[in-house]
Amino acid sequence: TGKFFVGGNWKCNGTKDSISKLVSDLNNAKLEADVDVVVAPPFVYIDQVKGSITDRIEISAQNSWVGKGGAFTGEISVEQLKDLGCKWVILGHSERRHIIGEKDDFIGKKAAYALSEGLGVIACVGELLEEREAGKTFDVCYQQLKAFAGKFMLLTTDLKSIFFQGKPNAVPSWDNIVIAYEPVWAIGTGKVATPQQAQEVHVAVRDWLKNNVSAEVASKIRIIYGGSVNGGNCAELAKQEDIDGFLVGGASLKGPEFATIVNSAT
Ligand code: 13P
Repeated sequence: TGKFFVGGNWKCNGTKDSISKLVSDLNNAKLEADVDVVVAPPFVYIDQVKGSITDRIEISAQNSWVGKGGAFTGEISVEQLKDLGCKWVILGHSERRHIIGEKDDFIGKKAAYALSEGLGVIACVGELLEEREAGKTFDVCYQQLKAFAGKFMLLTTDLKSIFFQGKPNAVPSWDNIVIAYEPVWAIGTGKVATPQQAQEVHVAVRDWLKNNVSAEVASKIRIIYGGSVNGGNCAELAKQEDIDGFLVGGASLKGPEFATIVNSAT
């Protein structure tokens, strides 16, 4: 379903030098043609990356402000990201949910605003280990999906009730959304979900979209997996029917390994 999508989330890593080396490795890598490839550098290096990376690879931010820029010390606006050439933004990442404390409602608003400005959204969902062990995996993902979808729907009906005002500059479309399923217990732990575990949740996510948005959106949307994906485990995961790509952390900091993951598309 949809073109394979692989994102590299560099998180809060890198220096001008290490990023210049990574970009040069990516520029030299052979990447399958039929895959959307995106990298998400830290904000401060976006301009450097955009200016040096091949046009083959699109740029994502790792976060964005919830509305128009202004007196919001330390924040980065969607308009600024577009000015730097970003096409995407990652929102609702578990590190922002669980370390920084971002809540569903705020994340949903950010996503709606980014979409209304024409930025693609990589919308992250995923359960904690204790939630999985308590049998709540689907419920947690549904709750997080509901927050995203609820705010997207407001874009077409009731803009005023969202944090920001005015008209959207872009027609909000589910085509500009990729869902990333990232079980929190698998992130940065080396404990990758089994292909069956991931597939099962991806199917549940697709079913939820079918029942709550539309059958068309459910069948077209890319649902990508994140959490300890590497060059060794990507092929088995990629074979699963409902895994439409990956969101890669640690392994995306190594150019050749990231290329292997991009090329695992089946
Ligand atoms: P790791 O690949 O390092 O587990 O991180 C996954 C992730 O959080 C991508 O957004």
